Amino acid sequence: MHRFISPEQALDLVLQHIPAPSVDSCSVDDSVGRVLAAEVPAPSDYPAFQRAMMDGFAVRVSDAGKTVVIVGEASAGHATGAKVEPGCCVEIMTGAPCPEGTEAVVPVENTTREGDRVVLPPEIRPGRHVQPRGQICKQGAPILQPGTVITPLVLGVLTSFGLDHVPVFRPPRVGVISTGDELVHGQADPSLGQIRDSNGPMLAAMARQAGALDVVRTRALDTSESLQGEIEKLRDRDLILLTGGVSMGRYDLVPRILEATGAEPVLHKIAQQPGKPLFMAAGPGRMFFGLPGNPRATHFCFVRYVIPAMHKWTGRKVVLAPLFGSLSRPYACKSDRTLFVPMRVETAPDGSYAVWPFDERGSADIYNIARANAYVRFAPGEHKLDAGARVPFFWMGGADG
Ligand code: AMP
Ligand code: MG
Repeated sequence: MHRFISPEQALDLVLQHIPAPSVDSCSVDDSVGRVLAAEVPAPSDYPAFQRAMMDGFAVRVSDAGKTVVIVGEASAGHATGAKVEPGCCVEIMTGAPCPEGTEAVVPVENTTREGDRVVLPPEIRPGRHVQPRGQICKQGAPILQPGTVITPLVLGVLTSFGLDHVPVFRPPRVGVISTGDELVHGQADPSLGQIRDSNGPMLAAMARQAGALDVVRTRALDTSESLQGEIEKLRDRDLILLTGGVSMGRYDLVPRILEATGAEPVLHKIAQQPGKPLFMAAGPGRMFFGLPGNPRATHFCFVRYVIPAMHKWTGRKVVLAPLFGSLSRPYACKSDRTLFVPMRVETAPDGSYAVWPFDERGSADIYNIARANAYVRFAPGEHKLDAGARVPFFWMGGADG
């Protein structure tokens, strides 16, 4: 067990303990955001037929400069039985299957129509404006690689090949347990000393955004029986996020109780602010994060540790390098630990990142930083920075915003 390790060491440890992603099948319609677990070979040639790429006439090359008879019409979705024999042509629209005998398509603007005949240009290149079957991709050719994140564009590709299911990495089923005798449900009226459980819904929303398969949420009191009971109820979960109960208080039972369930502690306490008491334990068959109860600390720890963990779990690339932006106004801070400060990053007119600090310091609350979208990192020590100073940051939503 490691004590007061650096945030970088902590992230390494977290990632080392994430299980290798397992493979699942997913309907293409629901696949956006998932990651392909295997190469996808083309189930058929694409396009599946020789098709016209222009509106015009399907012709024989040897008829260049001649006047030919129009013997039929083919449009997108409508093939024709007519054949392109010497001296004949078929009127054809973009996307239509080319009739038998087609050697090229002549665009309508390069022809002159005379009733049921058409005058062709003096030169016609073989294959011009005709896309042969399989030109984009041959049956069996790899169209997508494992590790590809399924975007709407990828969904379009999968659908164009008629695929209805694809192999993907299976994201974790997530459970969230808010711990604390002081907590009441978000819609309840707190009596003196009680507070609404805002971390639970916030963490559940973050887990869904990070790609969790599904998320269930529960609350536990600060007693061993209650905590054990709630952990036991979530036995079908792959990843359990607890919030609260990881500090040094008499009722901070989470690390002890998790160890009693047979989970191996991976880390406890990191030289960072906020989130010093973060606890993580692994196994058997699942992972636990004991996040601090302070809403800011729990948010930060989720962003910095749980998102990369979930990305590794779901087969996504884990991006650790920060981005850089310029402070929009002077900023001073001081900490003996690595400090992570929520700020708002906006894209400046020249495309660079402008970093806006909020007017607040050191509060445990999330109200005055609700519009933050990034964490700015400061090395331990004292910093007095002028406007324009370059600072490293990472997005709250994960690698790409
Ligand atoms: P703890 O880490 O359990 O000592 O909690 C630290 C602080 O965070 C206390 O002021 C708690 O009341 C507050 N807190 C704990 N859990 C939650 C929660 N689920 N939602 C909002 N605040 C919380
Ligand atoms: Mg507590």
